[in-house]
Amino acid sequence: MPVRATKRGTARTTLDRDCDVLVCGASFAGLTVARELERSGARVMLIDRYEVGERQTSACAVPTEWLELLGLESSVRQTFDELVVHTSRSTTRWPLPISFSTFDYRELCGLLRAAASSSEFETATVEGVQTGQTHTVRTDRGDVRAPYVIDALGWRRVLSSSGQPIQPPDARLSRGLEVHPPGTGDDLECWIDPHYIRAGYSWSFPAGDEVRVGVGSFEPRDHVKDGTVALARDLSRDPVGYQGNWIPHQLRPATENGIFFVGDSAGHCLPLTAEGIRPAFYFALALGRELRAALAGAITREQALTRYRAFNRKHALKYSCMLGAQHLAGRTTGSAPMRWLVGALRARRVSHWTFDHYYQIMPRPSAIGSDSPELVGTGARGRLGAPA
Ligand SMILES: Cc1cc2nc3c(=O)[nH]c(=O)nc-3n(C[C@H](O)[C@H](O)[C@H](O)COP(=O)(O)OP(=O)(O)OC[C@H]3O[C@@H](n4cnc5c(N)ncnc54)[C@H](O)[C@@H]3O)c2cc1C
Repeated sequence: MPVRATKRGTARTTLDRDCDVLVCGASFAGLTVARELERSGARVMLIDRYEVGERQTSACAVPTEWLELLGLESSVRQTFDELVVHTSRSTTRWPLPISFSTFDYRELCGLLRAAASSSEFETATVEGVQTGQTHTVRTDRGDVRAPYVIDALGWRRVLSSSGQPIQPPDARLSRGLEVHPPGTGDDLECWIDPHYIRAGYSWSFPAGDEVRVGVGSFEPRDHVKDGTVALARDLSRDPVGYQGNWIPHQLRPATENGIFFVGDSAGHCLPLTAEGIRPAFYFALALGRELRAALAGAITREQALTRYRAFNRKHALKYSCMLGAQHLAGRTTGSAPMRWLVGALRARRVSHWTFDHYYQIMPRPSAIGSDSPELVGTGARGRLGAPA
């Protein structure tokens, strides 16, 4: 078992604190929200059970331009202009209209944290919340009070009290497991092959001096370890450095009892592809915009909640379509129509058309705020978006 860098022994003092904004969870979504509140003048506190960047939660592949937009390009390990897709019978190269990059998780989190340096950070495990005009968040080190509380805690949605199913196998969750053997590779690769997983896909993402090899299942009851080990062995990689998690594959309510939810806690990871980093950035930027407006007194907390909820809902149809595509893909993984589709995407026009439509579910930041008074805000590199 790896020893995680959480506060231990005498360093683990009692937390009894008041702040303006409490961001629970310091990964992609939480750190981006904190970054967006830099220079807002608010007392922002970040809490995570581990030190920032301590525990990788992903294979860490993302559209390159999003890393550039957020000033995170120095964390990039490798960049790819095509996706190599394998079925049981063929290998096809899909040309991508935008490049994807793998990055170093610790470095990326460090960069986001540096861009939110005026916020306070504490390691503590969040256990629950008592909601009110000022919310009281219970942690294993004591209570923290804030009028604005953000749950960026990942799939467990710890601050929810709705009673909706969140735990597997009742909740709508996919699961992913990968290994991180040392090694190098040239291609971003994906397998749509029931030999590794019945309903889902497998991948090999090189990232400098390591390769992230894993399996994702759309069906939470299906195990992913055997497939992961089999793929690693087929690629002559050692199955070492395990990392896995559940992945919500359905949009969840973005607010509940005055709490904001973002990233996996809000079900923002896209169904079918399990791409969750760009959505975490995207919705965190949108949430940051509403919080800044509320903290500046331009809108009330209730209005910020309403507007963020509406922004989330605007994406519901697209998420439903992606979920429909996931159901279909899950039933046809090894079939002839699936193999035909994989082959059809080798044509540049078909591939670009498909990816462009997919990409537009979450357009570049300059388009995020087209129906809002303020666009994505200030960060390490200044204003990100041009007025729409
Ligand atoms: C194996 C695998 C590979 C993936 N690969 C990719 C990929 O290549 N590209 C992509 O776009 N997406 C990928 N995803 C999906 C992506 O990882 C998630 O969608 C993304 O991490 C969501 O970000 P988040 O900030 O919402 O939550 P998380 O990254 O899960 O972060 C949640 C944070 O909350 C903290 N936390 C949790 N509970 C508590 C608590 N009770 N108290 C205090 N802190 C707590 C955690 O320590 C963590 O820091 C992958 C997922 C898996 C499982």
